[in-house]
Amino acid sequence: MVLVRDSKDAPPRDVVELAGVTKVHSGRVRALDGVTVGFGRGSFTAVMGPSGSGKSTLLHCAAGLDRPTSGRVVLAGQDIGALREPKLTAVRRAHVGFVFQSFNLVDALSVWDNVLLPQRLSGVRPDRRWAKELLARVGLAGREKARPGQLSGGQQQRVALARALAGRPQVVFGDEPTGALDLSTGREVLALLRRFVDEIGATMVMVTHDPAAAAWADRVVFLADGRIAGELFAPSAEQVAARMMELTR
Ligand code: ADP
Ligand code: MG
Repeated sequence: MVLVRDSKDAPPRDVVELAGVTKVHSGRVRALDGVTVGFGRGSFTAVMGPSGSGKSTLLHCAAGLDRPTSGRVVLAGQDIGALREPKLTAVRRAHVGFVFQSFNLVDALSVWDNVLLPQRLSGVRPDRRWAKELLARVGLAGREKARPGQLSGGQQQRVALARALAGRPQVVFGDEPTGALDLSTGREVLALLRRFVDEIGATMVMVTHDPAAAAWADRVVFLADGRIAGELFAPSAEQVAARMMELTR
């Protein structure tokens, strides 16, 4: 007898899948309008588009921070539309890391405690060895006891990156993670994002308005008026800038 493998048994190609996602804010602002997009395991995607095109809303819906008005979001194999709040939070904590423009570190806690905080909040035993390795990889070995306020912006964002990866999430989302950094510091953080994708197989989805930042990604997904407006693979900064010009014309 030949066993035919059901496609259900195949591992999902994408860590995050959005299918026909529409999001209407406050009952009137259609921030996303039928967005279908997937983010592959071990890939680095930049999301770009004019201001107000729905980038942050896309990120929030993909990460389970916000719920679509209609459509489906599958995150780490789970249809999150079907999950009630405590379960959704648990899925997010277990499988998603975040890096924000404003770092969002807790100033009253040491670097070390900031990195371990998400795991402690999820009630899982922190993986100290991994946390230590991450801090070394972002160039902050020996700074475990420092407070965020004692560090430069670039160092703080590198702590935030270690924190995002400490729980070995399936995907890390960044909303303008280099938006508050100067050019060369931003480049260091982008190089780290790239290395984490290449070396540990992390999956990154990064919103940015900077074509040079997007050029570090494997793929750029463009949004305009809440809809997917094309994509570029292995993009150069020049190609990305040219496409952005077309979208904002
Ligand atoms: P981007 O990140 O690309 O600038 P956003 O996703 O933040 O775009 O916003 C898309 C649209 O939705 C904009 O018109 C914005 O004003 C609107 N919007 C975003 N969040 C809210 C909200 N909480 N309430 C009402 N309107 C919102
Ligand atoms: Mg935004």
